[in-house]
Amino acid sequence: MVSYDLNTPITYLKGVGQFKAELINKELGVFTFEDLLHYYPFRYVDKTRFYKISELTADMAAAQVLGRLVSLEVVGEKRSRRLVGKFRDDTGLIELVWFQAIKWMQDHLEIGKAYVVYGKPTLFGGAINITHPEIESYGRQQMSVTGNQSLQPVYSSTEKLKKHFLDSKGIQRLQETLLSVIGNVIEESLPHAILAQHKLLPLATALRFIHFPASAQDLHEAERRLKFEELFFIQLKLLRSKHIQKTKFKGHVFAEVGSKFNTFYQDRIPFPLTNAQKRVMKEIRMDTRSGAQMNRLVQGDVGSGKTVVALMSMLLANDNGCQACLMAPTEILAQQHFNSLKSLLGDEIASIRLLTGSTGKKERKIIHQQLAEGSLDILVGTHALLEEGVRFRQLGLAVIDEQHRFGVEQRAKLWRKNAIPPHMLVMTATPIPRTLAMSLYGDLDISVIDELPAGRKPIQTMHLFERSRLQMFGFLRKEIALGRQVYIVYPLIKESEKMDLMNLETGIEHLVREFPLPDYRISIVHGKMPAKDKDFEMQRFVKGETQIMVATTVIEVGVNVPNASVMVIENAERFGLSQLHQLRGRVGRGAEQSYCLLMSGNKLSKESKLRLETMVRTNDGFEIAETDLKIRGPGDIAGTQQSGVLDLKLANLATDQPLLLEAREAVIRLFEEDPELLSPANQVLRKFFGRNGNGISWDKIS
Ligand code: ADP
Ligand code: MG
Repeated sequence: MVSYDLNTPITYLKGVGQFKAELINKELGVFTFEDLLHYYPFRYVDKTRFYKISELTADMAAAQVLGRLVSLEVVGEKRSRRLVGKFRDDTGLIELVWFQAIKWMQDHLEIGKAYVVYGKPTLFGGAINITHPEIESYGRQQMSVTGNQSLQPVYSSTEKLKKHFLDSKGIQRLQETLLSVIGNVIEESLPHAILAQHKLLPLATALRFIHFPASAQDLHEAERRLKFEELFFIQLKLLRSKHIQKTKFKGHVFAEVGSKFNTFYQDRIPFPLTNAQKRVMKEIRMDTRSGAQMNRLVQGDVGSGKTVVALMSMLLANDNGCQACLMAPTEILAQQHFNSLKSLLGDEIASIRLLTGSTGKKERKIIHQQLAEGSLDILVGTHALLEEGVRFRQLGLAVIDEQHRFGVEQRAKLWRKNAIPPHMLVMTATPIPRTLAMSLYGDLDISVIDELPAGRKPIQTMHLFERSRLQMFGFLRKEIALGRQVYIVYPLIKESEKMDLMNLETGIEHLVREFPLPDYRISIVHGKMPAKDKDFEMQRFVKGETQIMVATTVIEVGVNVPNASVMVIENAERFGLSQLHQLRGRVGRGAEQSYCLLMSGNKLSKESKLRLETMVRTNDGFEIAETDLKIRGPGDIAGTQQSGVLDLKLANLATDQPLLLEAREAVIRLFEEDPELLSPANQVLRKFFGRNGNGISWDKIS
């Protein structure tokens, strides 16, 4: 027998050939034997059970029925032209419907013959039918490639592939052929000790079972093994680069707590730090004293007081002969950070400047010069900080706010700004569930500010329907009369034709009628405005010159106006949970009771309802993040977009948390016993690094 290796192109698989190979390359992204092997079924059909036609209901996901085709007829015209087959067993009759491949079905189906039909029952005109069912003649079904197997794999295919007989069944045949030629060359990828300890199937067995499970138990075991492997290798890579960072990269040593830090802490700071802030400061102190380069993520809900932690860390850098910078994702935010840092600092303690895209030439020149000679202690800004011309004399600490807005490259650029890489402090107000953080940021150290400053009154959140709009306006009037300010946020700028959204413009017209000058002044900020105008409008609101801020989601992050006490979110059902939570965090920043009013239409999907209910129930960002992860899955959670976590084929970070913890622990134990992976048993793992490179994986932390 010819022996193949897993890198063999699929052209060489019996039954494929060049034409089909190219089609499969294109349609499925499958090139080699190995790729095909990892092209898993997306579901399995339980064909152990036949349903009676009388048992079928529209809420079944799918069902298999054995019966006889009693008639076949083309009905309707044009777009509703369809082939309808009447299909019966001894309990009743259903209709099978095809809108496509009508001719083919007519040619291949025989009236009077027994068929096994499988599909999703739906209710149409009071009767059950199945549209585009899988249908096979009874005899053939018994003898199909998978024999009498109970769980039949279903592979996703495409129209083009189906035209060339590569439907799910076709792919299944290829898998069967493939396993028969390479079943014995699938190498184990995990050390035997780990297999034994975690009771995992060997890789070859797991792959066979994932394609052709003989039982639900086999399938479960196969999935567990393959999921474990996915999670294990992510952790291996993350913890390995963490280890490399810790051992191979020297960091600035901030040995001193000097006069800048102390003057601030003793004379200027306007409030006592919360215990959580103190703890995080301690963690940062330890890191920056250790001699290794710090890579720390600070997670803290909106309003938890991350800014002051950033400031104190930057002063620590200054006290140790280094400069520091703080980078924010938008101009508004950078400006706001600059303002609040400046007012916290006063004029004495440290010098600070702002650099953004709209900084003028003259100011730029001063900044460049002061950076180079070292007289500028702290530089705050946007992406502009990354420009070539921005050169520090000695950059010791880079703080990045709202990290998920920044890409991989940008982070790497900051890192390269200095001969000794600066300590990195990444701050996010988007709480990330623990397991997700472990996978996305597993090579960072994580600090959590899980406590709000004392005296904050929890924001009261209410969900209102359109019919309560006038009451809502009345409420706003009352709050404004008390001297408070109000945000009203819309999801879109321009109404799209199809979506029945009240858009910003009609909303504003309505508002102007309800809140006429001179008693009320309105600021308007939206994404399509030039930065300068945005800033002008923002500033009017910040200074209290306007009482109402109407905005699209540009105000989502960071904006701080403690006098604002009401957040109205229009079409709240259109926002994701984390966005809603972020928006709500714009209020509740002062001493007054604050409110969040979620306005929605009457018709809500199940998910929208759950989102709004969650918002009304809790203010806890971590609880909200957990719910979000459950609703959406990890793919849409902020930060996952650019990470390898999305490549997970089987594992799901929302539902496979225990397995993730198990995999992570396995990796930690492994590195404890054999940090350089030198033992013969661990050579299989070195191969993994050979395949994937082992540099610093910035790609995992964006
Ligand atoms: P975020 O974590 O959302 O960036 P900020 O740093 O903007 O939060 O802080 C929110 C508000 O709370 C600011 O007005 C800040 O001055 C205030 N603040 C921060 N820490 C404390 C504290 N320990 N006690 C009282 N107020 C605080
Ligand atoms: Mg902030």
